[in-house]
Amino acid sequence: MDQRIALALHGGAGARRHRDYAREIAHMRGLVEAARDRLREGAAALEVVVATIQAMEASGLYVAGRGASPNTEGRYELDASLMDGATGLAGAVAALEGFESPILAATAVMQATPHVMLAGRGAAGFARSQGLAEIADAASWFTHAGFDESNHPPGGALAHGTVGCVVRDACGRLAAGTSTGGVFGKLAGRVGDTPIPGAGVWADRAVAVSCTGQGEYFIRTAAAAQVGLRLRLTGESLPGATRAVLDDIAALGGEGGMIAVSAAGEIAMPFVSEGMKRAALTPDGRIEAEAF
Ligand code: ASP
Repeated sequence: MDQRIALALHGGAGARRHRDYAREIAHMRGLVEAARDRLREGAAALEVVVATIQAMEASGLYVAGRGASPNTEGRYELDASLMDGATGLAGAVAALEGFESPILAATAVMQATPHVMLAGRGAAGFARSQGLAEIADAASWFTHAGFDESNHPPGGALAHGTVGCVVRDACGRLAAGTSTGGVFGKLAGRVGDTPIPGAGVWADRAVAVSCTGQGEYFIRTAAAAQVGLRLRLTGESLPGATRAVLDDIAALGGEGGMIAVSAAGEIAMPFVSEGMKRAALTPDGRIEAEAF
């Protein structure tokens, strides 16, 4: 066991300069401190990823879990995924309705089924069979975090938000998770990058990645997996690999960002958007939290 614990989390790359994110920044800092304490006690990377994302979903502060907004049919379809770099296992739910914590549902898919992803009605039936907490009344449960007309990016692009976490634990294991309400005003059945391993989430033995942004672009560039492949095949640095993928996304007209942690505990949190709510713990024990 070495002590190079490191982690990063994000609260979405939909941050806009005219907004004040003091609450979210304080909340993210508190989550990093709690995760640090658990990791110092020997918690596994995957366990810390799930606990951190679950807390972000429950807070109602971000466009994930309780903070999600409805699609064009007025329904709340949520996506989440996680990946364990040590085992290569992954779990995901897409367009899940009616449950408080999509990341817990994704975890159950990974741990209790031979599948990677369950969607829609099947995902909800499975979550129910696992005894996961159901939303009694959607009208009073959801907080619609960050949703107002002034929040939209220029040029009619899709406004969005997400949460994610990447961790390197004291045994050197890596894990990543992502959870989202998706983009505002999405069509029924729309699924973005968040629940797709390789697009919105990735973890192997070298790196863990969680993405945020206009998911369509992250799917089309295999964004999260591309970071892992670049590290393995090109020998690029972590900052270089993550930046190169975001440059591809920007060149296609997309916006967003990603967080990544390497096996050495190095952290990268680049974005090609106005801002990205984010926080991190570096192996030397430093904590940073900011939005721009
Ligand atoms: N990537 C998410 C999606 O497209 C949204 C976000 O990250 O803000 O569903």
